[in-house]
Amino acid sequence: MLVSGREILQKAHKEGYAVGAFNTNNLESTKAMIQAAEEERSPIIIQTSQSAISYAGLEEISMIVRLLAEKASIPVALHLDHGTDWDVVMQCLRHGWTSVMFDGSKYAFDENIAITKQIVDIAHPMGVSVEAELGKIGGVEDHIVVDEKDATMTDPAEAEEFVKKTGVDYLAIAIGTAHGVYKGVPKLDFERIDEIKKRIQIPVVLHGASGISIEDIQKAVSLGVNKINIDTELRQAFQEATHKVVKETPDLYDPRKMLAPTTEAMKAIVKGKMRAFGSSGRA
Ligand SMILES: [Zn+2]
Repeated sequence: MLVSGREILQKAHKEGYAVGAFNTNNLESTKAMIQAAEEERSPIIIQTSQSAISYAGLEEISMIVRLLAEKASIPVALHLDHGTDWDVVMQCLRHGWTSVMFDGSKYAFDENIAITKQIVDIAHPMGVSVEAELGKIGGVEDHIVVDEKDATMTDPAEAEEFVKKTGVDYLAIAIGTAHGVYKGVPKLDFERIDEIKKRIQIPVVLHGASGISIEDIQKAVSLGVNKINIDTELRQAFQEATHKVVKETPDLYDPRKMLAPTTEAMKAIVKGKMRAFGSSGRA
């Protein structure tokens, strides 16, 4: 069933586990995600970046995810990942997204509060939940590029003020993760998660979680992370499976047969994350 992001994440926040938010671009990925969630009896957040929306079409990707969500027996939220464009956020509200992220991290603190608050005031009466970002998460995610030297950690006191003034449902924090593929071993600031969570008492979101060890992820979850975004690892699984199909069966020309192993590979990643995050068996 299709539900709001808040419904899924409030339960995770109360019970102390995290729910995976997986980036989709098409029918095959969405099906893989929902099948994985059904088999794991896990809630799931399926998210689209602005680039995914440009690629698939706003109405098209909305219909795909919402139809599969309505047919599913587990809770599914459709979330806009890193909405930086006011118009796209409004279009998502109009086209059935049940959760939107407004990423105002490029703005000064007060301006980020003002715009985020406006979006909360529009989204909440429609039953749509809102995620915001404070601090700057480094790396490259589709249209967002943040140089390592410009990445800044989230300040716990600012987080408290931000949540109070905006009324957001969950907050993405910068604690040392980055988007894309890690070159070295990422070092997470666990104390910062703990301090922020104690001050804000709402679900906390971790971006750039692909490539973080299971131990670190589980420690972050134990400190109060409730939504974990996974994109890069799904792309890598797709890439690896595609290469294997082409290499092992060069004469195959049926797209359905060529895509079947990629779907299975993405499904395996999603199921593994659900177990690691503690969301398996919660739906
Ligand atoms: Zn992100």
